[in-house]
Amino acid sequence: MRAAYVGYVAVPIEAMTIKTRMGMKAEIAPDWSDTPTILDGAIVIGAGAAGLAAAQALIRAGVTVQILEREARLAEPWHRRHDNLHLNTHRDLSSLPGLSYPAGTPAFPHRSTVIGHLNDFAETHRLPIAFGVAVEGVEFHGDHWLVRSSAGPRAARHVVVATGRDRQPFIPAWKGMRDFSGRILHSADFGRASDYAGKKVLVVGAGNSGFDVLNHLAAGTETGQIWLAARNGPALLPKRIGKIAVHRLSPFMASLPTWMADAAMAATQRLVFGDLRKYGLPPAPSGGASRLGSDYTAIAADDGAVDAIKAGRIAVVPQISAFRRDGVILANGRAIAPDVVIAATGYRTGLEPMLGGLGVLDAKGVPLFNGADSDPNLPGLWFTGMRPSIRGCFANAGILGAAIAGKIAGRKR
Ligand SMILES: Cc1cc2nc3c(=O)[nH]c(=O)nc-3n(C[C@H](O)[C@H](O)[C@H](O)COP(=O)(O)OP(=O)(O)OC[C@H]3O[C@@H](n4cnc5c(N)ncnc54)[C@H](O)[C@@H]3O)c2cc1C
Repeated sequence: MRAAYVGYVAVPIEAMTIKTRMGMKAEIAPDWSDTPTILDGAIVIGAGAAGLAAAQALIRAGVTVQILEREARLAEPWHRRHDNLHLNTHRDLSSLPGLSYPAGTPAFPHRSTVIGHLNDFAETHRLPIAFGVAVEGVEFHGDHWLVRSSAGPRAARHVVVATGRDRQPFIPAWKGMRDFSGRILHSADFGRASDYAGKKVLVVGAGNSGFDVLNHLAAGTETGQIWLAARNGPALLPKRIGKIAVHRLSPFMASLPTWMADAAMAATQRLVFGDLRKYGLPPAPSGGASRLGSDYTAIAADDGAVDAIKAGRIAVVPQISAFRRDGVILANGRAIAPDVVIAATGYRTGLEPMLGGLGVLDAKGVPLFNGADSDPNLPGLWFTGMRPSIRGCFANAGILGAAIAGKIAGRKR
């Protein structure tokens, strides 16, 4: 009878399920017939910041790596983002390990500079990326992992899932939204502020993307009425205080216990902006650092939106209750009539089709494990970049990549 190694104990396999560390059921696939040569190393799925950093750390640790990227070029998510997008995170803390941005890069790099940086990193380290290979499924075969892809199956001892936490734009199913005669779009398709000249715009969501949109709309003078529908108050920090880029404090913030980081952020927010509840923003459900881990809400950055709220150019309103043909009914019963609704309502990982059978995702599709933390009953499955962090995605990519490489290299010894 065939055997599979579950937690390094040989067990018979016949369409078997096991219990994961979190008590969920994981399938072990019984079919060995199309198993290709097993790579004694790691397949990294996704060549974004997280995947590239993990691959480079693995190679440095002596682990053989293949990177599978579904797009035809690097940094496709950054290519697709709106023209005016600059990082909220500081240049010096937004680079991949060992590579700086070119001299003269502004404090908050434009997305095109980020694209250049990711390409430079991949070239510098000659990272082995197979482009145009979309992974469709990942199966546990006991002592290895089978990766089903658009280019056929591949197998390896380890799989590092780095497909991004903002892979699929998410818009809630609002009552009546199909009947709305205006336009509903996701913040991922924002375009340019000038596209909204003369338009009445409702932005839904006071998180990172919501404030990014509001910062841009507030900077343009041509937008008509702007509303912000907020269910929760934001964890909001200014991009700068005087000449200091606030993100520079992130390594210090990350070193604090969560309750202390919550308190430091709340105090900074209050000191800089005053009491935003006066302008209709609801209180935040919990502290900014806590929410990174509890509901995966990233910290929002203000770059002009708060001044526009205080000046009355952006009106804060309650959350949406329902759509009707000519507008939106709010939770307080009031009706407003926007031309465009921008849903800054977040993203999903979209990992269910790939990993659904393994019992490693929570109700929102976010992996239960990230970085060096993994399920001992599913040895060789790793995740990186699946949670927001105080430091931002680039610094986090380096830290998690090194941690995963340390674990994998340690197991090989
Ligand atoms: C508007 C906006 C602004 C942001 N600004 C900042 C900022 O200022 N600072 C900051 O630190 N972070 C910022 N972020 C967050 C940041 O973009 C992401 O956290 C970051 O891109 C994560 O990198 P990643 O490698 O985890 O994911 P991604 O960059 O999404 O890379 C994932 C890669 O995996 C590939 N992939 C996906 N599925 C498959 C598959 N099935 N098979 C093969 N390949 C696959 C994708 O094509 C992609 O190349 C912002 C996000 C948004 C939406």
